[in-house]
Amino acid sequence: MRLTKLKLAGFKSFVDPTSVSLPGQLVGVVGPNGCGKSNIMDAVRWVLGESKASELRGESMMDVIFNGSSNRKPVSRASVELIFENLLGRALGQWSQYTELSVKRTLTRQGQSDYFINNLKVRRKDITDLFLGTGLGPRAYAIIGQGMIARIIEARPDDLRVFLEEAAGVTRYKERRKETQGR
Ligand code: ATP
Ligand code: MG
Repeated sequence: MRLTKLKLAGFKSFVDPTSVSLPGQLVGVVGPNGCGKSNIMDAVRWVLGESKASELRGESMMDVIFNGSSNRKPVSRASVELIFENLLGRALGQWSQYTELSVKRTLTRQGQSDYFINNLKVRRKDITDLFLGTGLGPRAYAIIGQGMIARIIEARPDDLRVFLEEAAGVTRYKERRKETQGR
């Protein structure tokens, strides 16, 4: 699976519908300070299920919704959609038949948070299940944020093990085992 496109609207500084294409294996995002580069990475982690506001550099989850600027009023809803190429059918279960997968999350100021896969309403867990063991998740290693290398180097053995298990692809099976054991 490869992330090929992001569509944002009302998310942080991206108030108007914005489409960001990731055309190659290696894509750089450049721009002046404060133009929204980190907001793009926050958007990806948000859709993947990040539920802690501080991990998205906010105080509350509502801080991801565009809250106005000198010449624009705040909006009432944030939406981010990620488009993945699924050429080898790497996604598991019912999703393996699609060549393209859309994963979307929306949030309103009333606190209504919804997740969608290919426009079908799903649970947050369906999204985390989809990416479990792929290295892509809100806190997994496919997204390396500032200070993360140092955190890995300094990690306690138990925390380091989480990264190694994700890389080895065993997280998925451990989760399933926990579920069947009712823990
Ligand atoms: P740097 O090069 O300094 O790391 P950057 O390109 O990564 O900058 P971001 O941190 O992505 O910049 O964007 C910061 C901008 O996003 C700020 O101008 C901030 O006001 C704006 N912003 C963040 N959240 C919101 C929000 N909810 N509503 C409106 N604007 C927001
Ligand atoms: Mg930044």
